[in-house]
Amino acid sequence: MTKKYSCPNCAQPSSLDSANSWRPFCSERCRLIDLGEWMNESNKIASTESAEFLEHIPDDEEFRH
Ligand SMILES: [Zn+2]
Repeated sequence: MTKKYSCPNCAQPSSLDSANSWRPFCSERCRLIDLGEWMNESNKIASTESAEFLEHIPDDEEFRH
């Protein structure tokens, strides 16, 4: 009995078998697409965090107390 599994990217039937090098994805393409989206998301988060960090840097007026 083989459990049916859908590729997280394209929802095509995929396999979690060790023969599938791209598991849980169905193909290298889907794996790379998902990885690319993840990278984009983390880049967005990183840039947002750095923007907030910059806002918390005291400006010149606060240094002149
Ligand atoms: Zn796929």
